[in-house]
Formats: sequence, C-alpha cells, structure tokens
Amino acid sequence: MGVLIEGGTVLTPRGPIRNGAVAIDGNRIGGVGRLEDVKRNFSHLERLDARDCLVIPGLVNSHTHCAMTLMRGYAEGMSLMDWLNSIWKVEAKLTPRDIELGAQLGAYEALLSGTTTLNSQYFYSDEASEVHAFVKTGIRAVVGHGFFERTRDTGLKLTESMARRWHGAEGGRIRISVDPHAPYSTGPEAYVEATQLARELNEELGDRGKVIVHTHVAEAPDEIKQVQKNFNVDASKGIVKYLDGLGVLSDLVVAAHVIHLSDEEVRILGARGVAVALCPVSNLKLAMGVAPYTKFKAVDLRVGLGTDGAASNNSLDMFESAKVLSLIEKQTMNDPSVVRSQEAFYLATMGSARAIGWGEEIGGLNEGYKADVVVLDAARMHSIPMYDEYDHLVYSAKSGDVRDVFVDGKQLVEGAKIIGLEYESFRKKVENTKDSLLSRIGG
Ligand SMILES: [Zn+2]
Repeated sequence: MGVLIEGGTVLTPRGPIRNGAVAIDGNRIGGVGRLEDVKRNFSHLERLDARDCLVIPGLVNSHTHCAMTLMRGYAEGMSLMDWLNSIWKVEAKLTPRDIELGAQLGAYEALLSGTTTLNSQYFYSDEASEVHAFVKTGIRAVVGHGFFERTRDTGLKLTESMARRWHGAEGGRIRISVDPHAPYSTGPEAYVEATQLARELNEELGDRGKVIVHTHVAEAPDEIKQVQKNFNVDASKGIVKYLDGLGVLSDLVVAAHVIHLSDEEVRILGARGVAVALCPVSNLKLAMGVAPYTKFKAVDLRVGLGTDGAASNNSLDMFESAKVLSLIEKQTMNDPSVVRSQEAFYLATMGSARAIGWGEEIGGLNEGYKADVVVLDAARMHSIPMYDEYDHLVYSAKSGDVRDVFVDGKQLVEGAKIIGLEYESFRKKVENTKDSLLSRIGG
C-alpha cells in the first residue's frame, strides 16, 4: 500500500528537487528524489499528480491547546490574566465531550492548513478527550493533561495512567507528555514531582518515544510577581532561574513562549538543553512581548514554532506563525536579512519536531521518516510567479493552498477537504455546542 506523489517540486533538507517525487510506502517515506529515479523502485504504487505543486513535510505545531478551538473568539481585547480568568470560567463548564469536539475541530483545521503534528496541552479524561479526537481524526500528536496547583495530585495520577494507556498508541502516532501548566499556576513541588514522573515514564515507556515535560515559561511581564505572590517563593532573579533552582530544567522540557528572561537565563536554558516553543501570534495578540529568538539561536537551543490555542490566536495556522515570527525578528533586530524564509520554514517543520523530541522520525522529507506529507497548490493568483520555493512558502503561500495531506502514510485531506467528513453536520454540532456552553455559563 502506498502512493507515488509525482511531478511537483519536493522540498528536502538538501534543497528543492524540481520534477521530483515522494514515495509513500506503508507509513514511511520509501523514496525521495527526482521523479525518474524514484519511479524505478516505486512504479507499482498508486500515483498522485503534483505538477504545479510544492511537496513539503507536514508542519509541526510545537505548542497549542487544541480543544480551545471551541473558544475561538470568546475572550477578546484582554491581558493574559484577564483572558485566563475569562477562559477559566468557560473551562469550568466544559464536559469531556465538549473537549473532544473542540480538539476534533482543531485537528481538522490543523490538517487543512498543512499541520500534521500537534503538541497539545489540555484536560484529559478516560471517557472523552483530545487523545480520543486525535485517534479519530488521524493527526499525529503529543498530548498532555495540563494541571494546576489545585489539581496537582489528580493531575499527576491521571498523567501516569494516560501515559500507560496511550503513549505509543496508534502505531506510535500518539505520545503523552507531562504538563504542569505554568509557574504562576502550579507550585514548586508540583514541578519537581512532574519532572520525577517524566523521568520514570521515560524509563518505563521511553522505547515508544520520548516523554516530554510541556509547560509555559516566562510568558507574562508580571510573572515573577505572580509566582512570588501565589507560592511564597523567591523568583526575583527570573522565572528560568527559579525553575533551575528547583532542578527541573533538562532536555525533557519544552517551554512555551519564553519571553521575559535575562541573558544569563538564556545561557541556563542552553546549558540544560531545554527546548522552546515560540508563539508569536498569540504573544502579539495578548501584548505579552517578543521572545528573544536570535539570542536562543546563539546558544543553540532547539527552537520550535507554535500557535498557542485558537482562543488567543485565533487560528492554528502555522504558515501565519512562520511569517509573523520572521517579520517580528526583522523589525526587532532592525535587519531584514535575519530569519530568511528557509529558516522560518525549518522552524515550522524540523525545528518544531526536534523541540518536541521527535526529530528522528518527523519534520523532514527523508527516506525512512514517517510519511507526513503535504501537497500545496503553488499556481494560484497570489502565488505566481515563483522565484524561490522557500520565499514562496513563508511570504506568499496561504494555508488554504494546502491540497492533499498524508499522516503516517494515510491520506486525510484530498482536494482541500477532510476525507469522509460531512462538513455541514459537523459545523452544526460545533455551533450547537457553543450555544449550549454559553447557556451553561449564563452568557
Ligand atoms: Zn499555551
């Protein structure tokens, strides 16, 4: 079983191959190269015409809260803390079924915009959850149960049982992470316990893939004050130094946002091997500030790109995030030559894959990698003419140009539509759930 995607320009880590081909053999990439070469070994496969298209690796969203897509546009024009308080009121009324539906909506949106992997933090339950939605929709995902100080004990227990049930499920397509929410909402002991749990789970289940710790770090300008007030600790030298003092920073950690930190703290992240997931669109929207990307690069951090949840973005569009990050950095550094398109594209693919500890299998069109492949129409009005494929992808292409998407060798999107989904009835279900949620919160 497989497909030969033929005739498009294939973007490989070694550069573009025009009139190229990608052979999907089972759930792996069997061959990548010039069409005439790949065809020799894979002429028996079904064919997919990709002329006038770009064939790219599936994008990897290294930080999101997929189920929050259900709250897209709910809380607008607020600072982080006001926004959180508003969202937490809604979350108190969410049922596991709502969460699963929100995650399903987000997964479809992600797939239709060329994202094949999500690193998502939300609330898990055994009956219905983001995991159930990702299993159903076919998207690849790392999923964690976000927990706060008040839910610390149940959160850790739930994470443990969810990891045993789901880590490595669906032929390795699903992974589980350990997710203390943020230093201002989750106390110091909880971080220590989460780290310990992640180490144990890696020992027990690590052969099915790395179990990462996924958390928010130094997102808000007043985070130090919040942490000190909420937990009566000394975080005056910075959030990263505070976490480092707890001994919880390591190469297992994926830290989202990471905006407000000193140069010394950047070096600490480098020394500990922490990965960061940057969310430029969400940061701009909540006026949180700008993460020092160029400084992260200087200490060789693994840097990925994410959207954050659609409640603060308001989309899961990784094309947009790549473009915005590149534009912000040019302005911040006052230098248009920084973050060239190839680099921005790398951040949305291999950079993010490495950040979430999955770079050995996804993030690039390499022979033997998992077959997460996207075919993008490159011949539309806003796309022509094309001088350089990477400039095209980052500055001109739209997520709506995505035509076909494969995850783990299986085609999930065909002709810009989710295969097997009756959109109108799905849309009604989402709108009805929104109405029901509004009536439950009295809004
Ligand atoms: Zn977040």
